[in-house]
Amino acid sequence: MSARTVTLLGATGSVGQATLDLIARAPQGAYEVVALTANTNAADLAAAARRVGARFCAVADERAGPALAEALAGTGIACGAGPGAVLEAAAMEAGWVMAAIVGAAGLQPTLTAVRRGACVALANKEALVCAGALMIEEAARSGSVLLPVDSEHNAVFQAFDPAQRAQIRRIILTASGGPFREAGLETMRRAGPAEAVAHPTWSMGAKISVDSATMMNKGLEIIEACHLFALPQEQVDVLVHPESVIHGLVEYADGGLLAQLGSPDMRTPIAHALAWPARMETPVERLDLAQVGRLTFQAPDPERFPALDLARGAFKAGGAAPAVLNAANEIAVAAFLAGQIGFLDIAAVVSEALDEGMGGPEGAPAPASLEAVLAADALGRRLARKAAAGLAR
Ligand code: NAD
Ligand code: MG
Repeated sequence: MSARTVTLLGATGSVGQATLDLIARAPQGAYEVVALTANTNAADLAAAARRVGARFCAVADERAGPALAEALAGTGIACGAGPGAVLEAAAMEAGWVMAAIVGAAGLQPTLTAVRRGACVALANKEALVCAGALMIEEAARSGSVLLPVDSEHNAVFQAFDPAQRAQIRRIILTASGGPFREAGLETMRRAGPAEAVAHPTWSMGAKISVDSATMMNKGLEIIEACHLFALPQEQVDVLVHPESVIHGLVEYADGGLLAQLGSPDMRTPIAHALAWPARMETPVERLDLAQVGRLTFQAPDPERFPALDLARGAFKAGGAAPAVLNAANEIAVAAFLAGQIGFLDIAAVVSEALDEGMGGPEGAPAPASLEAVLAADALGRRLARKAAAGLAR
């Protein structure tokens, strides 16, 4: 069998490193790494590129360029710096691309891989939230296969029988509930970055960890699911499941539910996408259900976690709203991590940005071009900066 050629966008992050770990454990010759990218971490990127024998490396931050070039001197591995170099990496001819850049920064590189018809393993949910319609349309045009890596969507993808689409009643995304699942509003008001990123079951990057604590992560995932599975949001439910053992479910007309289960370790959904349509070994801890003993479930609390309704509202509004929501959330999370606003202010900033940025009838058409998406993203950032400045302490 010939090697699968792969490129990793966001190779130094939590998902990127987990993907590299699986590639390192795969049988010799199964994967051939074409390109790796990162934002600023030239040292880790160069080390990974040497280890896997990548052909090309790119850092998005131009200032990290000289360090990258120096770290790769004499290896024969080509490199570049700046957003254009990341796009160049995405455009190289790898058949499989892991889209694991965090935030809307991943949109253009991911779209570049989609447009050339690559098989794209999609971790970068923000790209789908702000440009879902465009992404799905471009994938249909190029023949690009989108493989969901987000654990819930990967679970649903495995349980979703497209031939029975008319018999599918709803899908259910599970949520751990995050570190504040049981916390009172006063505790949440006082929470700082250290408490918010301390996720009970998953180990992830800082931004998605804060999103899990506000449950905006689940809000973004509702929108992500609507695009990936072409469902109206009324058919996408959220269920709090603190053990994070069941990742997603599909309910059929006959009342049966199909679920995918596993230890909360991203290497399982990543491996599913990496080997797809085959399967591969992973070192993931096997699920011992007798040991787990009991699985529990509860409905999400919309009072303490308003982000869920904000996301549903933005998707319903359509037009620029989902991109505004996503961009405002990125700004609010960054302001929270920098100690500028409180934890509960994150949803308040997003809400204010949406109120100011929306208007017009519900169900407006989604931005049809990359330029329109970028304009909506810029608007969301501007409105959120203003709202955050008003709340700054
Ligand atoms: P992370 O912060 O650990 O890593 C982010 C990666 O993106 C890094 O390689 C970083 O260098 C790169 N990056 C950041 N800003 C960039 C920019 N401006 N331009 C180019 N590259 C940039 O994040 P993560 O936890 O690995 O998450 C990555 C994506 O996967 C996110 O969209 C997240 O929502 C999604 N996701 C992550 C997990 C998880 O377990 N970590 C689970 C599901 C989905
Ligand atoms: Mg998820």
